Amino acid sequence: MDAARLKAEQPALYRLLERGFREDSLPQAILLYSSPRCAFRDLVHFIAQSLTCASGSFACGTCPQCHRFLDGHRPDYVEIDGGDGNITKDQIAALRDFFAQSAVQNGIKHRAYAIIDCQSMNDRAANALLKFLEEPTPGITAILTAPALESVIPTIISRCETIRINPRSRQEIYDSIADAVGQDAAYFLSDYSGDEQRLLDTAELDDFKLAGELAAEFIRSLDRGLEPASFALLEAARRGLGKPRCYNFFYGDVSRFLSDALAQDGLFGPFAPQIERFGREQPDLAARMELSLRESQSKAKANLSFAGVLARLAKLLIG
Ligand SMILES: [Zn+2]
Repeated sequence: MDAARLKAEQPALYRLLERGFREDSLPQAILLYSSPRCAFRDLVHFIAQSLTCASGSFACGTCPQCHRFLDGHRPDYVEIDGGDGNITKDQIAALRDFFAQSAVQNGIKHRAYAIIDCQSMNDRAANALLKFLEEPTPGITAILTAPALESVIPTIISRCETIRINPRSRQEIYDSIADAVGQDAAYFLSDYSGDEQRLLDTAELDDFKLAGELAAEFIRSLDRGLEPASFALLEAARRGLGKPRCYNFFYGDVSRFLSDALAQDGLFGPFAPQIERFGREQPDLAARMELSLRESQSKAKANLSFAGVLARLAKLLIG
């Protein structure tokens, strides 16, 4: 990322920062949002690097501060990543302590912290952050991200400059990772995140791999008819998918396919023939299966029986 690319790809964010640097009026808190398909981590790092750059403007890439930042030595920056689970009050408390205890270093005008996927804060964490935001310290900028604005509590939104980020297209995400992770996985991941590293890390998870393998078997079994497809779902249930994270991936993968069949989207990937045919020949069935899956997902996780959900889908297939 550099200033020219930011200007071209995210003009609203560019304008906000450009004015902030020019008029020395950087916002106390910025909230980036819109879709999971944004490269939030790249953007957040570029903003943080710019805030701590000696140039006093967008990251120059050549000053000692930029070099340190790019080397991963970031004494003026703290990052909390909610991408892997709940953000706790203790993490926010540690953030406050960090800024209370560390002094501004020579030549540094700004310090920054980021909370990626800030919708993952539990209530106590959100309240702690709110208190921190309500007592602004000059020279500290918060950078928050969330896939959707509705997922963030209004009191936090009201403390932030909100900037809608332009997401990457699914095909662009697919093209960028297909060589590294394989076509099936790249298709399943194409709506998951816009952050390349996160996609590559997810593709390495055993839960993701097994879910993807079983989902791909189900989709390809549709070529042989509805009955084999029904068996493929029962087989997926039989093979366990024991862990919640695994069946959540599986639900996501199958939902992805069903919505694509209904919208005739996602035709860039390896399942284009099945998407095209299932959507054309069985639109009502695809809609019923998608609804059933969505209803199961919205139920309390404790009551969720993976085998039960799949049995219901399998039954829909054979009518
Ligand atoms: Zn610099």
